[in-house]
Amino acid sequence: MQFLITQRTTTTPGPNVTFDCPACKSDGVAGETAAVEELNRLFGLVPLMTSDWVTIRCGSCRRYFASSPSPDELAQMSRSDVSEMIANWQATNVDFLVKFCVIVSIVGGVVPFLGVLFGLIGVLCTFKSRSRWRIAAQVGVGISLLSTLAVIVFVMIPNHKS
Ligand SMILES: [Zn+2]
Repeated sequence: MQFLITQRTTTTPGPNVTFDCPACKSDGVAGETAAVEELNRLFGLVPLMTSDWVTIRCGSCRRYFASSPSPDELAQMSRSDVSEMIANWQATNVDFLVKFCVIVSIVGGVVPFLGVLFGLIGVLCTFKSRSRWRIAAQVGVGISLLSTLAVIVFVMIPNHKS
C-alpha cells in the first residue's frame, strides 16, 4: 500500500519562542517553531489532501509539541501563553493505543461483549482527557452495551426458557 500513496513533507522553520517545557520541566527554554505541510498524492501524481500543522521543539529535551497557532502567532504570544497552550495540548493528547480501543469499541460495538471490553478501556483511559476521544469512547461503550443487551434479551433469555 505504501507506494500507492506518497507523502511529501515541507518543513518551514519559524521564529524561536521561549516557553516552560512540560516534558523536561525546564523553565524558559528556547523552542524552535516550524510549520509542516504534508501533501499526499495517489501514485505520486493525483493530489489527495494536504495537512498542515505547527510544531515546537524544546531546545532542552528535543521533544516535539503540536501547536494550533502559527509560528508567527506563537512569536507574538507571551511565554506564559505559549507554556499554557502546550500544557493544554498535553492534557488533550490521547495515546495511539487508547484511540485504537475506542475505535474497536465503536466499529466492533455490534459484536456483543467484545466492544464492551475495549470501550471500557477507552472510557477509563480518556477519563481525564478533555478531547473528543472521551465522547467517542462513551459512544463506543453505548453501542457495545446496546448490542450486548440485545443479544442477552433476544437470544440468550428465549433460548434459556425452551
Ligand atoms: Zn523539554
